[in-house]
Amino acid sequence: MAAPNRQDTKKFFENLSGAGKSIGVLTSGGDAQGMNGAVRAVVRMGIYVGAKVYFIHEGYQGMVDGGQNIEEATWESVSSMLQVGGTVIGSARCKEFRTLEGRVRAALNLVQHGITNLCVIGGDGSLTGANLFREEWSSLLETLRTTGQIDDEAVQRNSVLHIVGMVGSIDNDFCGTDMTIGTDSALHQMPPEDDWEEELCYKLSGNRADKKRLNIIIVAEGAIDRSNKPISADYIKDLVVRRLGFDTRVTILGHVQRGGTPSAFDRILASRMGVEAVLALLEASATTPACVVSLVGNQSVRLPLMECVQMTQEVQKAMDEKKFDEAVRLRGRSFENNLHTYRLLCSRKSDKDLPSSGFNVAVLNVGAPAAGMNAAVRSAVRVGIAEGHKMFAVNDGFEGFAKGQIKEIKWGDVGGWTGQGGSLLGTKRTLPAKHAEKIAEQIRIHNINAMLVIGGFEAYLGLLELSRAREQFSEFCVPMVMVPATVSNNIPGSDLSIGADTALNAITETCDRIKQSASGTKRRVFIIETMGGYCGYLANVGGLAAGADAVYIYEEPFDIRELQANVEHLTEKMKTSIQRGLVLRNENSNENFTTDFIYQLYSEEGKGVFDCRKNVLGHMQQGGAPSPFDRNFGTKVAAKAMQWITTTLKETYKEGRVFANTDDSACLLGMRRRAMVFRPVAELREETDFVHRIPKEQWWLKLRPLMKILAKYRTSFDVSDSAQLEHVTHVRPKEAAI
Ligand code: ADP
Repeated sequence: MAAPNRQDTKKFFENLSGAGKSIGVLTSGGDAQGMNGAVRAVVRMGIYVGAKVYFIHEGYQGMVDGGQNIEEATWESVSSMLQVGGTVIGSARCKEFRTLEGRVRAALNLVQHGITNLCVIGGDGSLTGANLFREEWSSLLETLRTTGQIDDEAVQRNSVLHIVGMVGSIDNDFCGTDMTIGTDSALHQMPPEDDWEEELCYKLSGNRADKKRLNIIIVAEGAIDRSNKPISADYIKDLVVRRLGFDTRVTILGHVQRGGTPSAFDRILASRMGVEAVLALLEASATTPACVVSLVGNQSVRLPLMECVQMTQEVQKAMDEKKFDEAVRLRGRSFENNLHTYRLLCSRKSDKDLPSSGFNVAVLNVGAPAAGMNAAVRSAVRVGIAEGHKMFAVNDGFEGFAKGQIKEIKWGDVGGWTGQGGSLLGTKRTLPAKHAEKIAEQIRIHNINAMLVIGGFEAYLGLLELSRAREQFSEFCVPMVMVPATVSNNIPGSDLSIGADTALNAITETCDRIKQSASGTKRRVFIIETMGGYCGYLANVGGLAAGADAVYIYEEPFDIRELQANVEHLTEKMKTSIQRGLVLRNENSNENFTTDFIYQLYSEEGKGVFDCRKNVLGHMQQGGAPSPFDRNFGTKVAAKAMQWITTTLKETYKEGRVFANTDDSACLLGMRRRAMVFRPVAELREETDFVHRIPKEQWWLKLRPLMKILAKYRTSFDVSDSAQLEHVTHVRPKEAAI
């Protein structure tokens, strides 16, 4: 990696040293997927900066008991840990830590190891404990001193305890965070209205009338009604059998949710948070408050631990006092929005209750299929109908539009679409310009007043073409919005696109399997080719999630010297206890250094140390059922886009017609850092490399050094973008808007 050349404006990681520091890492409370990824990242980042890192096994219990429970971690000790569910270092509940005596013993154990930095991965209980521990630290040391267990010098040396929390709960119950480690791999609450039983039965019988024979009801552990009475799955089963006579089965997911391999999202989140936690510890001074590292949207944030704990307690208090609306509000905007969207999409009204706006809105898929497109269409159709519009489905993208493959789509038509892969509407890459006349005609025939395009790079190009053609065709002077949906994640104006997470999961699962296939055999390196066109997102982020040793992408040119250095690096690693190597290569990363070439190079140079296998992943990355993240993301983004359409329609409706020809009436809705942002497509033009079909700037390139660090390379890491301490209340309003 090139030497940093903007030292003056950027803050580089090299200046932060962990030399002489000891970091303890523990997982506590209920275990969750992704905890291992977080531990791995803390260990490797800690070692990378020159600190000593200690595992504290069995959570606070290990801290109280000491002895073998506190063990120095090595680089290799966290190898092959990323793909394992739950927590490898153990997580126990600990009664003693709730007592002062327990915490005094824990403090002594930390002092004996010189651990003055603690990284706690756990839920609200664990972090409440951590907060208390930190607040008491001086008095704990004082107790140890007065009882003669430590001397003055030890008190001095350990006078400040830095604590960073990472939320690892799958209940997503820790306030101030958008996504906690593990929530993506498990999935999900406000008590229902008092007449919920009637409402539920009404909905179910309505579904049957529509010939829908399968209904799934999800009951959260801890669900209660408005008088705090538990609602159990069995109670619901009895209700459905008694009132409706439907055959009903109950399945308790239980530990299925906690076990299993963590999703790509969880692994990346955990890796990013782990690195962020170490940075926060290195940067902490005697006066900085203990913090929680977290993610809002796509952005790392640090929040004061104490504020998070207080907020969580306020939520609990509101729940206890049955102030449920207050509790939902306190849980943050993201939670509130999710709940609102979920209710809107599920609460079917009879046609006569629906408002009528008099507007017709077309929905289409454009580009290659991506998982989550159907969830987006379902959400758009239902939100559109709920807002009073008549919704029209277009088959086969702009090509189908030109051919008149368009018809009205109703609420019930999109039932069950959320979990289906591919594009049920049909999608094509065809661009609209050369069919402009025909499309305009269809818009006229069906009196289409607005358009929602769900798709990839062609959708973006298509919108640019249509907005350019507005001068010629007044039919295109209607609000148009696209939401990015492509596995490649190469759309300007959005950090993420629908479908990319599913593709990443497919890549990581395959890498896990490929790695496993060779267990017990001799040392082996796998060369894996991923899709993405010129966009290295899948290769790079997939590499981070799978724990790759090297990733070749177009965006970061590489030469023969780099390839040679990588082979040598891997050869060295293979001399330790590490048995597997993983190398990812994006399909268009380099015209001449092909996957075959790299495979042959590694095979030749690794002779006698390791052998090689290669694998081209191909279209399996596009297919499959959408991941929970893509279902949610597709649902939320499309709902927001449809709300924009409603607003823009109202703004542009004058004298009996809709007329929209300004740039801001042809937009792309994307996730930008922590917010969902509408940007005119015309404005995105200058941010686009049209030749290679990628944005000129891509945020995830910042994750590249992280991947290298976790693969034991020395590299330069720009931390000027790392999170600053904020307040819980500041994260809430508007900004965390999905
Ligand atoms: P989670 O962290 O998943 O919410 P728990 O609520 O069970 O799980 O908390 C895990 C552990 O954290 C407890 O077993 C206990 O050791 C510690 N802990 C929780 N709350 C407190 C508290 N108020 N004071 C001290 N320690 C606590």
